[in-house]
Amino acid sequence: MSEESPRIVDAAPADAEEREAERVLRPKSLRDFMGQTELKKKLGIFIEAAQKRGESLDHVLLHGPPGLGKTTLAHIVSEEMKTGCKTTSGPIIERPGDLAAILTNLAPGEVLFIDEIHRLSPAVEEILYPAMEDRKLDLMIGQGPGARSIRLALPAFTLVGATTRAGQLSSPLRDRFGIQLRLDYYRPDELQLIVARAAAILEAPLSDDGALEIASRCRGTPRVAERLLKRVRDYAEVRSGGVIDRETADQGLRLLDIDSRGLDHLDRRLLDALTGPYDGRPVGIETLAVVVGEEVGTLLEVYEPYLVQEGFVHRTSRGRVATELAYEHLGRRPKKA
Ligand code: ADP
Repeated sequence: MSEESPRIVDAAPADAEEREAERVLRPKSLRDFMGQTELKKKLGIFIEAAQKRGESLDHVLLHGPPGLGKTTLAHIVSEEMKTGCKTTSGPIIERPGDLAAILTNLAPGEVLFIDEIHRLSPAVEEILYPAMEDRKLDLMIGQGPGARSIRLALPAFTLVGATTRAGQLSSPLRDRFGIQLRLDYYRPDELQLIVARAAAILEAPLSDDGALEIASRCRGTPRVAERLLKRVRDYAEVRSGGVIDRETADQGLRLLDIDSRGLDHLDRRLLDALTGPYDGRPVGIETLAVVVGEEVGTLLEVYEPYLVQEGFVHRTSRGRVATELAYEHLGRRPKKA
């Protein structure tokens, strides 16, 4: 993490408090989940089919950048299937015994949500394979020559795994998910609906163009949209009697140092390096990480996908390169011919 204050456009939740606040805004049914039309269509069919057969849903892998709704979808699956949901995450499950305890405590048909599933250790993954495939749990009892293995039957359950790094998942684990769905960044019109819905829940007066302004500057990410809405609401309460229209949203966002394309000072520092000192030459990801003072993983997961998608940066085999749009956005011209 950088040493500066937390980034307002960071797609990861700031802390447990923010996670808790998000729960209020979380849609509880597929119908209230905006955007991701193709994904919703597929998931809706799979859920209906499982319900008709009276079976639990096949295991689901959700992958995509942070803040796009993976946790929300896991809870929606449990709501739609009318079962409970137990939540954990890859780094929390340290030993095989931890996972065994979770699995043996599942109620029949329950959803087990494992966030950051790519961070499970190989020893823990080993436990998961027979559990996912045959609903069996292999446990070692005792140690040394007297040790023996016993096999326990588990109730039916649905594992919902979420990952921001699908490429880091081992293939035996990935192959055991019957349903694999990718979440993409949202379009402004979809985010406009998400912002309007959140404003209604928070009882914040918001005009259509105010919602669109926030929607266009939140990096395609609902979590960021909700966070910006809350900050702009504060600004509106102090400056314009509480109503968030386009102008108030624009002024509030400028105050937060978020520009017309939703980029903040860290994005601009990155583009500044690519267009300034490096002037269009390819730059390795490690060098860029040093320039912006962030970890390589954060660059790869958080900054880069959005800058690439929006056409500010190109990924080449020799490194990252600024595009014409990046020069234009910063009001610069390439020095090189
Ligand atoms: P992830 O697990 O991918 O990091 P979350 O599921 O925690 O993301 O979503 C972050 C926030 O964005 C939550 O408050 C959630 O309500 C909201 N959100 C995400 N996707 C949608 C959506 N499609 N419609 C409405 N709100 C959404």
